[in-house]
Amino acid sequence: MKLVEGRDVDYETIRAKHMDAEVPVVWLESNEPSYILYTSGTTGIPKGVQRDTGGYTVALAATMQHLYCAYPGEAMFATSDIGWVVGHSYIVYAPLITGVTTIMYEGLPTNPDPGIWWKIVQDYKVTSMFSSPTAVRVLKSQDPKYMKMYDLSALRYLFLAGEPLDEPTSRWINDGLARPVLDHYWQTETGWPMLTYLPGVELKPNRFGSPGLPNFGYNIKVISEGTGEEVGPGEKGVLVVVPPLPPGNLSTVWGDDERFVKSYFSGFKEMVYSSFDWAVRDEDGYYFIMGRTDDVINVAGHRLGTREIEEAIQNHPAIAEVAVIGVADKLKGQVPVGFARLKDPSQLGTEGAAEKLEKEVIGKVQEILGAVAKPSRVHFVTALPKTRSGKLLRRSIQALAEGRDPGDLSTLDDPNSLEEVRRAVGQS
Ligand code: AMP
Repeated sequence: MKLVEGRDVDYETIRAKHMDAEVPVVWLESNEPSYILYTSGTTGIPKGVQRDTGGYTVALAATMQHLYCAYPGEAMFATSDIGWVVGHSYIVYAPLITGVTTIMYEGLPTNPDPGIWWKIVQDYKVTSMFSSPTAVRVLKSQDPKYMKMYDLSALRYLFLAGEPLDEPTSRWINDGLARPVLDHYWQTETGWPMLTYLPGVELKPNRFGSPGLPNFGYNIKVISEGTGEEVGPGEKGVLVVVPPLPPGNLSTVWGDDERFVKSYFSGFKEMVYSSFDWAVRDEDGYYFIMGRTDDVINVAGHRLGTREIEEAIQNHPAIAEVAVIGVADKLKGQVPVGFARLKDPSQLGTEGAAEKLEKEVIGKVQEILGAVAKPSRVHFVTALPKTRSGKLLRRSIQALAEGRDPGDLSTLDDPNSLEEVRRAVGQS
């Protein structure tokens, strides 16, 4: 590959320059911030998750041993990107803190061929691997022979997180690898897993669809959204953590302590940390995650605020008003889809105008928020379904877009708006 001067640097040159450099230790108080990671906010303004130093280090070191079974001198392969929380915790900090070799891989799991990850596992004798259900679903659509071409004998476990793991995907990868594939659940805010099967301590029997049981350090409950009381086994509620949060969890929202308390700790009568996820616990203590309680969608393991995408779309001068919802997608879990009303609908009068405008609007989102947030479609409608008090009926729009019944419409202001959405998604 040709290097572009002024943009690229040659690895060997940089390596030679810094070879044997000594980086002095800087002593810090353990609560000193180590980094900030921005995550989708329900108000549309991203929240800066602030992490401490000492607690985070201890938590990561403990999970490497007790959860990921990754020991000094071995190799761990997290297929994430270092810009996301999984990358921060398990590509950069945890392996380096614990003397485990870390592997950074950039690119698709199918390039140059769908065997590339398994070749890496073979060549570097990876013992612990971490990926996402979406990545596995991508591999599942390829020829399964690639998984059989390499020696995977070093690999103990494959861990998956970031979005719900469906049973067919779980079975496919389990059978193919002939090793335990363990779902586990956590958030940018926590920095390390909340629900897990904890194989380094005691590997519990796998239960499809469940990311496991509470991890050490977490006092987890499922409570009723209405009463705030703990619900019984099999009942749906909001997953919360009873404070104090364990070491390494977010210590505040960067620059805004009030928002930290208001966003995460004030939704219920007791002061508990809300995950904003629906959950069910079964009789045996296994948890099941049933989706978000807020306007956040999960695209290929990345959490995106629909409000942020709406704000990006509104940056296009032609748009008067827009609703973005998450629509179920076989590969990515969910994809954003927009429904927009134009300031001047007559501008769609000429042939090809709608396609051109849709491309432009999608391009605007990519420019502002990046490729992950790109809506798969933006439909143009003349009215959006709203309640008489002016609130967007997102659940009804989402139901129609997924071909389901729109549900309770007693508060719908303009029935025509619903027909508009139906027409846009091609159902009438
Ligand atoms: P993020 O902060 O981007 O890592 O996203 C965290 C969110 O992803 C959680 O609040 C859940 O909604 C979802 N999530 C993460 N892991 C799982 C999992 N194993 N099963 C289901 N949902 C998950």
